Amino acid sequence: MPTETDHAEGSPVGGRGAVPVTAPSRSVGVLLPLALFQAYDYLAPDGLPPDGRLLARGDFVTVPLGRRTVTGVVWGPGAGDVAPEKLKEVAARLPLPPLPASSCDFIDWVAQYTMAPIGAVLRMAMSVPDALLPERTLKAWTLGTAEGAKLTAARRRVLDVLQASLPLPPVELARLAGVSAGIVAEMGKAGLLKAVPLALKRPFGEPDAAVAGPALSAAQRDAAAALGGLAPGVTLIDGVTGSGKTEVYFETIAAALRAGRQALVMVPEIALTPQWLKRFERRFGAQPAQWHSELTGLERRLTWRAVLDGSAKVVVGARSSLFLPYRDLGLIIVDEEHESSFKQEDGVIYQARDMAVVRGHLAKIPVILASATPSLETMVNVENGRYRAVRLPDRHGGATLPSIETIDLRIDKPARNSWIAPGLKVEIERTLEAGEQALLFLNRRGYAPLTLCRTCGHRLQCPRCTAWLVEHRFHQKLMCHHCGFESPMPPACPACQSEGSFAACGPGVERLAEEAAALFPDARRLVLTSDTVTGPAKAESLMRSVAEREVDLVIGTQIIAKGHNFPHLTLVGVVDADLGLHGGDLRAAERTYQLMSQVAGRAGRGEKPGRVYLQTYDPDRAVMQALKSGDRDSFMAAEADDRRQAGMPPFGRLAALILSSSDQAAVTAKAQELARCAPHREGVHVLGPAPAPLALLRGRHRLRFLLKTRRDIASQGVLKAWLRGLKFPGDLRLQIDIDPYSFM
Ligand code: ADP
Ligand code: ZN
Ligand code: ZN
Repeated sequence: MPTETDHAEGSPVGGRGAVPVTAPSRSVGVLLPLALFQAYDYLAPDGLPPDGRLLARGDFVTVPLGRRTVTGVVWGPGAGDVAPEKLKEVAARLPLPPLPASSCDFIDWVAQYTMAPIGAVLRMAMSVPDALLPERTLKAWTLGTAEGAKLTAARRRVLDVLQASLPLPPVELARLAGVSAGIVAEMGKAGLLKAVPLALKRPFGEPDAAVAGPALSAAQRDAAAALGGLAPGVTLIDGVTGSGKTEVYFETIAAALRAGRQALVMVPEIALTPQWLKRFERRFGAQPAQWHSELTGLERRLTWRAVLDGSAKVVVGARSSLFLPYRDLGLIIVDEEHESSFKQEDGVIYQARDMAVVRGHLAKIPVILASATPSLETMVNVENGRYRAVRLPDRHGGATLPSIETIDLRIDKPARNSWIAPGLKVEIERTLEAGEQALLFLNRRGYAPLTLCRTCGHRLQCPRCTAWLVEHRFHQKLMCHHCGFESPMPPACPACQSEGSFAACGPGVERLAEEAAALFPDARRLVLTSDTVTGPAKAESLMRSVAEREVDLVIGTQIIAKGHNFPHLTLVGVVDADLGLHGGDLRAAERTYQLMSQVAGRAGRGEKPGRVYLQTYDPDRAVMQALKSGDRDSFMAAEADDRRQAGMPPFGRLAALILSSSDQAAVTAKAQELARCAPHREGVHVLGPAPAPLALLRGRHRLRFLLKTRRDIASQGVLKAWLRGLKFPGDLRLQIDIDPYSFM
């Protein structure tokens, strides 16, 4: 991989490749990727070299802003609210394909819906500023023609490497030959090596629809046919884990490829596994372009450009991939559509699944949502005919779904300071004796969620948030899971100075691992949490060690719940099935159902059937009963009834307002002002102000309002009228969250 220091030449915006503009004569609106609510007017000339074309919507241009030159996008005619003689000129048009109209329209829509500054939405589409620069030529060395130059052993090694290789970038060549960079440079000067432009290797291939993938089962073939190719509209693939939803939507990707159009597959970041990529490659003979947080700068640049020029045909990525500048997007797939990680909670706050549906609608292309446990919103949309549904009720290849039982913790009590019920312990022992694998699931990182002083009762709390500090023994520190604050374990209680007085309260996955070690000392154990799974490579090797039976007992958080296939895993024990039900979240029961099903889906993927035990204090609760009986649809229907009665989404609309400041008095005063002018009308309710559950976050005091409106009333209009003329001076901030998923 060439490094940044290899650039034979680089040039800033406005340098080589940017086209100078002359003869100003009219105004255009240029949108800048900054937190601005509108485009700014600039003067534009009649025509621009090299082709004399007028500036048009979507053109990437550079403009002066204060003393800086910034890159923006022509958004339309000027607004005309600044006198022409005061306008500055567009500096240049960049020699790039324009931002496609579908991207511009989408950005307009998202800004209007989320009420975020439109410039901030544009910034998501221009997330790789480097990609706007002219393609940089990287230098590579090949064999030179000089004769008679002195050949040392080191120099000879360099020549030997090049004998058998394509041209190599300097750093790579020096590494392979085991010589210093200086020696390579010297050889260049002496003419022993010749510089040539490096052909950049793209981090993706050219997927080919004609490659024969695995043969589809009859059910899968029917489902693929029912998807209806590239006809616009939204379709849900509703299929149990292991039914082969992926193979089915691959067929629609094949249709997009045959039509010469681009396809996007959105997946939760942790579901973008090497296994998924391998399956893609098996079906299409090449790797798709990827878009996630671990790409290098060069990979980002190459990928962004290839999406813009249309040469990246299939993109798989996390939610931000929705804002890439697709030249001709023909299909969007949202896998695991129920996942709450599709909601972006900071910056521009948006629901990527919902925005994918919007993008599909604007571009008149199909959107496929896939899930084993679809969200209630999606199920309601299927029921009322807005979305179509295709069903895959059985696992591929005849594997059966695991049986699910509850363990009543009031009766089958774990010992003090332990969390595994005697009944579950027996089942794990049996599984291990049979030479099969077991999984203990607890969705809580760290050792213990709360540490308190036994002498004075003091609880270790984050200095910046309303949250306990979580002990992480693995890293030997205390951490705040909300703001990232870290500190070592204090030697003595900060309140009463007692030493050795701290007690850990409740279990985290690290503490559970300790208990498992005591109960099953002979089992080969592996702890999987984001603290031990530090990256994709590590994840791959750990998951493989499970698949290859190097491990008997896995102890993990939700990091294990996705995508991975463990054929020898036959038992899953959920240590605290009630964990997600506390806190009064609108979607708590729904999410518990989804997470439990997903974890349960890890068991019995091979020949032997799987068994799942849910430890709970409330086995009679509807969600536990539904998990046991597998009657998802009745459970979701009951949930839907509750929401309908309460006028909650998707039957009504919610918008959250979070007012925050480092100054508590300022927040309170502003909240009172907001409360005084709150809207009063039929179908509109304002709840709050109330202290947020996280009343203090990163040192900011927070108060919340919830705006609840009837479904036929748009929150945005109500909010605009409410907030008109209000000022937020100092560090007061108002965050608007349309369709909130977090109520913290
Ligand atoms: P889902 O996404 O519905 O959970 P997957 O698409 O991951 O299911 O499929 C589950 C497993 O079955 C995977 O290992 C996949 O490779 C395998 N599989 C599914 N369909 C086929 C098929 N037609 N031929 C061979 N293997 C298949
Ligand atoms: Zn104390
Ligand atoms: Zn904190």
